[in-house]
Amino acid sequence: MVTSRIDTDILILGSGGAGLFAALHAHQAAPELSITVAVKGLLGKCGCTRMVQGGYNVALAKGDSIERHFMDTIEGGKWLPDQDLAWQLVTLAVERIRELENELGCFFDRNPDGSVHQKAFAGQTFDRTVHKGDLTGIEIINRLAEQVWARNIARLEEHRAVELIRTKEGNALSGVLFVDIRTGEYVFVRAKAVLLATGGGPTMYKYHTPSGDKSCDGLAMAWRAGLGLRDMEMVQFHPTGLLAGAHTRMTGTVLEEGLRGAGGYLLDGARERFMTRYDPKAERATRDVVSRAMLSEIRKGKTTPHGGLYISMAHLGPERVAKEFKGMVKRCADCGFDLAGGLVEVVPTAHYMMGGVEFAADCRTQLPGLFVAGEDSGGVHGANRLGGNGVANSTVFGAVAGDSMAAWVRREGALREPDGAAIESAVASCETPFKNRPAKSNLESLREKLFETMWEKVGIIRDGAGLEQARRELGSLDDELERFALDGTNRAFNLSWHDWMNLKNLVAVSRVVTAAAIARQDSRGAHFRSDFPETGPLEESAYTSIRFDDVAMKPVKFTRVRPGQTLLRDAT
Ligand SMILES: Cc1cc2nc3c(=O)[nH]c(=O)nc-3n(C[C@H](O)[C@H](O)[C@H](O)COP(=O)(O)OP(=O)(O)OC[C@H]3O[C@@H](n4cnc5c(N)ncnc54)[C@H](O)[C@@H]3O)c2cc1C
Repeated sequence: MVTSRIDTDILILGSGGAGLFAALHAHQAAPELSITVAVKGLLGKCGCTRMVQGGYNVALAKGDSIERHFMDTIEGGKWLPDQDLAWQLVTLAVERIRELENELGCFFDRNPDGSVHQKAFAGQTFDRTVHKGDLTGIEIINRLAEQVWARNIARLEEHRAVELIRTKEGNALSGVLFVDIRTGEYVFVRAKAVLLATGGGPTMYKYHTPSGDKSCDGLAMAWRAGLGLRDMEMVQFHPTGLLAGAHTRMTGTVLEEGLRGAGGYLLDGARERFMTRYDPKAERATRDVVSRAMLSEIRKGKTTPHGGLYISMAHLGPERVAKEFKGMVKRCADCGFDLAGGLVEVVPTAHYMMGGVEFAADCRTQLPGLFVAGEDSGGVHGANRLGGNGVANSTVFGAVAGDSMAAWVRREGALREPDGAAIESAVASCETPFKNRPAKSNLESLREKLFETMWEKVGIIRDGAGLEQARRELGSLDDELERFALDGTNRAFNLSWHDWMNLKNLVAVSRVVTAAAIARQDSRGAHFRSDFPETGPLEESAYTSIRFDDVAMKPVKFTRVRPGQTLLRDAT
């Protein structure tokens, strides 16, 4: 059934900030190696890095420091981040932003004195978010894509990775099985090193922000391959998703953090501010705190016409808002809202997965030959990601992965024979819906069930009974998908088939999220259990680690700073 086979030295899955940076760095480090970027969409046109609005956290300004950025990241992450990975994030972000500006040609906004403008993002003690207006991701991805196009880097566009294939002996990765979306044929790519950079993305919730091409494929493949996944219960909800009715895909899309950072107010349906009752930082509290407060207000019932709350910016001056948040103002206007001078309906929306594949500082995973970077990886952010640390994470670790894959391939890389039976079994799994007898269910109703289960029972506020119920519902959904039938006569751009595969992966990862949420019997950052509302002693912090169905709690190593301490010299 596999109709073509390709060999390459380095194979990169995904063309977001992590994938493209990895390609450029690997090429620069070892130009003699063949590099292939394989991507579900079109290179430069898909994934979430392109959608980044607010910007990129980096300690550049006088008065700020990498220690301050580090402490904000650790405290924001509620002491769960892997401290060495977080340190690498904050130190290398400085290098990466220089590279983006001076080598790759990004233009970021500047102050009148020529220095880079850095804006306020919620949850941070310093204004350190570098940006280009409120469309920062387009600037970054366009420049990265141009540089990749200009080099001898091969592309497999509209190729969907479906399974990681081990060697016959099972002790290393051989390559990746794909479906060529344009023809529906199976392609096997053998590679000396593979980077998983498919960008996580919690699109299993009713309201969500990530791009439509993301369905947790990388995480599902890693889980099926037996890799350890950490912090999977930590799903970040962004407080301000646009709420414009069920008829538009704009509902759930994000209105950026900078709105609250600049001083925006959240109001209930009666137009009263409420955040001051929940946190002294009010609207500028971290995302977890604000999202939870919003859900509590929504549950009290004082809501807007679509069942959400309002964001109000008018008190900052409509002209200023229109100038500073041009993209947001336009997006709201497209949905009939006046962001600069009026009120916009908002709802918390699933935004980012802090959890992901466990990895080492050089982006190696437990499976020789497999590397990971970006939102597919876990450990950098702990229980909560700071706004602006996401794109920093994908670019920093993408570059690290590119450098280390190049070194690894030069040192010990070899093309390894795949386990033929594993390829056959992966193909058979993909073929499942073509072998089933037609039944009455449709994919849309299965998707709605998934959305509802995850939103209501594994969402912003959870409890043991709801999580157990979700576990059962997800099991039934998976059974229904296994029995689902599709017409396989025409495989080219068979979007129903891809939708089926998307749902299979989303359900698989939802089950992992649920299992981790059941195991964590405390509340911390993005994970709030109403039956275990306390955080417990920070000194005893432990993270969840899942391999297949086994969940373990592993102690966090405080390698740089312990709870109650700080790296800031001027702290009182
Ligand atoms: C609307 C929005 C706004 C955001 N704003 C900010 C912000 O202001 N600041 C910030 O720091 N972070 C922000 N983030 C988060 C940030 O975008 C992500 O953390 C980061 O871009 C992830 O980068 P990545 O390279 O890991 O993944 P992505 O950029 O998402 O790229 C993933 C790639 O993998 C491909 N892919 C997926 N599945 C497969 C498959 N099966 N086979 C092959 N390819 C596949 C996709 O097509 C895509 O090319 C925002 C996110 C969203 C959704």
